[in-house]
Amino acid sequence: MIPPAFEYLRPKTVPEAIALLKQHGDEAKILSGGQSLIPMMKLRLARPGYLIDINRIAGLAYIKEEGGFLKIGGLTREAELEASPLVRSKYPLLTDTTAVIADPQVRNLATVGGNLAHGDPANDHPATMLALGASVVAIGPSGEREIPVEKFFPGLFTTALQPDEILKEIRIPIPTPSSGGAYLKLERKVGDYATAGVAVQVTLDGSGTCTRAGIGLTNVGFTPIKATKAEASLQGKVLDKAAIQQAAQLAASESQPTDDIRGSADYKRDLVRVLTSRAIERAIARVKGGA
Ligand SMILES: Cc1cc2nc3c(=O)[nH]c(=O)nc-3n(C[C@H](O)[C@H](O)[C@H](O)COP(=O)(O)OP(=O)(O)OC[C@H]3O[C@@H](n4cnc5c(N)ncnc54)[C@H](O)[C@@H]3O)c2cc1C
Repeated sequence: MIPPAFEYLRPKTVPEAIALLKQHGDEAKILSGGQSLIPMMKLRLARPGYLIDINRIAGLAYIKEEGGFLKIGGLTREAELEASPLVRSKYPLLTDTTAVIADPQVRNLATVGGNLAHGDPANDHPATMLALGASVVAIGPSGEREIPVEKFFPGLFTTALQPDEILKEIRIPIPTPSSGGAYLKLERKVGDYATAGVAVQVTLDGSGTCTRAGIGLTNVGFTPIKATKAEASLQGKVLDKAAIQQAAQLAASESQPTDDIRGSADYKRDLVRVLTSRAIERAIARVKGGA
């Protein structure tokens, strides 16, 4: 299928891109990897009059630790994240997540910034960023602002970005040494969106007590869900079987799935319970040096 006609604009700098966004307002869309936007245009679900391709802007793709954060440039490809030795060694939750997004061809083009900016509750990064306590740096006509990821998804396919803002960077607090995470997703076949997905990140102290827990849920509501009750239930506890089961039950109760082609709401709720329990167990194993 061929998308409707549009004007193609190719700025070379961020200020140029912002000026174009300001000039064309609601009619303009940023083009990053194009792996969500172009299919939506082909299906006539999006009809931007102007595509502002930011792929030629230097300095928007990077992965680095700086000032207490892992900083990921908005234009960083999924394939770069997946292959990063830094991410593999210290952020297994991120590696788990990127590895189950679509297929290698899509991951060669799709960007981490685009995954968040699209605002799709079926996308995998939002839950992971919620679990990691990340924030997003947006840049617009009046400069930069930082938005916590928990405030970034106000509604279905909606984000806190203004129409004239670009998602420039994702910031993840560098976890303390006794931390571990895991992302588990059930998909009908490789490359599919999640029937349900669960991201978990935990920090334990020397006695094995949980000092921080982050839990995010994928595709079981109109927005990505931060399972705050489940998180709170783990805090201050030694993570034995009973504590894990209680958190998993709470996460299931916080999910808001609907019946669709991937399964019934009841099935998905129970899936969240099972995946949460397994993801916590894997996260704990990783704190202790497991794979
Ligand atoms: C076959 C297939 C299977 C897929 N399966 C999965 C999956 O299992 N899990 C998953 O998470 N995703 C999946 N995806 C989606 C994929 O990860 C997308 O690439 C991603 O959601 C969007 O990233 P992008 O760089 O391609 O963004 P684009 O398609 O270029 O843009 C998407 C939206 O975000 C906006 N945008 C993009 N970048 C920015 C920015 N820096 N600042 C402001 N706005 C911006 C665009 O204007 C547009 O509205 C799949 C895609 C395909 C084609």
